[in-house]
Amino acid sequence: MPEAPKITQKATDYNLELKNKKTLQLIEDMTSNADEVQKNVLQEILSSNAHVEYLKTHGLNGRTDRESFKNIMPVITYEDIQPSVERIANGDTSPIICSKPISEFLTSSGTSGGERKLMPTIEEELGRRSLLYSLLMPVMSQFVPGLDKGKGMYFLFIKSEAETPGGLVARPVLTSYYKSSHFKNRPYDPYTNYTSPNETILCPNSYQSMYSQMLCGLCQHKEVLRVGAVFASGFIRAIKFLEKHWRLLCNDIRTGTIDSQITDQSVREAVMNILKPDPKLANFIKAECSKDSWQGIITRLWPNTKYVDVIVTGTMSQYIPTLDYYSNGLPLVCTMYASSECYFGVNLNPLCRPSEVSYTLIPTMAYFEFLPVQRNNGVSNSISMPKTLNEKEQQELVDLVDVKLGREYELVVTTYSGLYRYRVGDVLRVAGFKNKAPQFNFICRKNVVLSIDSDKTDEVELQHAVKNAVNHLLPFDATLAEYTSFADTTTIPGHYVLYWELSLNGNTPIPPSVFEDCCLTIEESLNSVYRQGRVCDKSIGPLEIKIVEPGTFDKLMDYAISLGASINQYKTPRCVKFAPIVELLNSRVVSCYFSPKCPKWFPGHKQWSNTN
Ligand code: AMP
Repeated sequence: MPEAPKITQKATDYNLELKNKKTLQLIEDMTSNADEVQKNVLQEILSSNAHVEYLKTHGLNGRTDRESFKNIMPVITYEDIQPSVERIANGDTSPIICSKPISEFLTSSGTSGGERKLMPTIEEELGRRSLLYSLLMPVMSQFVPGLDKGKGMYFLFIKSEAETPGGLVARPVLTSYYKSSHFKNRPYDPYTNYTSPNETILCPNSYQSMYSQMLCGLCQHKEVLRVGAVFASGFIRAIKFLEKHWRLLCNDIRTGTIDSQITDQSVREAVMNILKPDPKLANFIKAECSKDSWQGIITRLWPNTKYVDVIVTGTMSQYIPTLDYYSNGLPLVCTMYASSECYFGVNLNPLCRPSEVSYTLIPTMAYFEFLPVQRNNGVSNSISMPKTLNEKEQQELVDLVDVKLGREYELVVTTYSGLYRYRVGDVLRVAGFKNKAPQFNFICRKNVVLSIDSDKTDEVELQHAVKNAVNHLLPFDATLAEYTSFADTTTIPGHYVLYWELSLNGNTPIPPSVFEDCCLTIEESLNSVYRQGRVCDKSIGPLEIKIVEPGTFDKLMDYAISLGASINQYKTPRCVKFAPIVELLNSRVVSCYFSPKCPKWFPGHKQWSNTN
């Protein structure tokens, strides 16, 4: 996740080489002394928070050593701290979980009860996030020289915020970061020389923000050395935007004026500093964009691009073929691994293949522990909820430097902002070590079956949503015999597909509008991150129900058994990914229906009065 600069003047005394060297040395030091650093981090967190209610209630009594901490403090999930979070959200400013004032809530894309989880944070965490960002380019510069000689074209956006009843702001971590002075007023750095002026990133209107960032990116096309967005899905959305709006953009470049739909005055002014009438460039863009094929459009329009900087690990790997197509196979670079709870680590070998990406956890970010996990190979078939750990399991957590090569673990963090032994929900595999610090492949987020953008839908949510929808079938004496789902990313934006096999007992045909109502009911029942993606960000397309022929799910079972599944243990997978299975389902579709409109969504939690 890159940063954009405020300052464009080159400082004459800027010694890039020295700065890079120092940063790389810092990584060497932190990773060589990982255990010592972790011990100190825990001590620092526990001593500064010795008197907070949460630690006192559990009886830690001011102890700061690892052994007492591990013996006394439980390993928890969000639901365990939700009562504390609610008190803080409602205005209780006493030191409940942290001695420092909670400055705001970061709204996670992970949800609880259908609403975004609220992660309390403190002002100083911004410094830790900045530190992690500052490691990225010195690492990259070892592999791709000369990146200081040009610009990065990154599509970065802020999202809407809400206010808690107690008056704290609740917003996504990147919105918080982009709006902070760490981002807006950062000192000169040639690596944060971006095509998007801050005003275009900070524009709350997503169309105007995207349009102006694209316009600035096109105007400076020869200077662009790298392109990106946070997630792969976001970058592809930008390309799709260009496909739809290139004529308007060309017109602006030809005339040196900005389209009247861009009404944000600060955006107009910032763009006017860059935009000059350039008919030659407009003709060039027009010629490229009107070609039948958009293969390699990135390298055609931005010919000096060396790599695409987007996260393609985890569920984002589904976008790799599309990115390869648009970029003509440029390296796809995943630089970092982070969350609302805390920023975790960086990729020290950024030019490696996406399937080989590993993140080195930075030991100063938080105190990390690892819960060993045994996964059933492949897709999980049953509805699983995070279970409370018994005492023995709590003892099994290992420290950062004690994880074993090849083993998988669930990440547990203790942060400076008041999370203690908190299960993040990510499963990681140890891929190697940088000095003493382990490097992890991101394996998956626990329980997530469907994801298109930052939405994460688990089996329980899906089941609940489907249950609500099938009520529409009752008047027709029809029931749902079986179902499964698929995240279809061949459309842009991607969308959820549900395959339904029906048992029809009545004679009345079911009109298409009933299935469309089913689609909408499912969408209305899904969590707020999904609905925000549909309504506000337009990052998810309308949900689709595909009705399949009777007997399709028997065929699916036959196929799974032919691949070695046990008949006795076979359960219908509630989500499919394996291409032959998707093909099998698609070959037996009799009709398709889409959600006719967007579900309802409002910023903030449903129980708050919203600010915008
Ligand atoms: P959020 O709290 O909404 O910022 O989401 C954080 C989650 O996004 C993490 O816990 C991961 O599940 C996922 N995530 C973040 N960075 C990466 C990455 N580099 N690769 C795969 N998943 C990631």
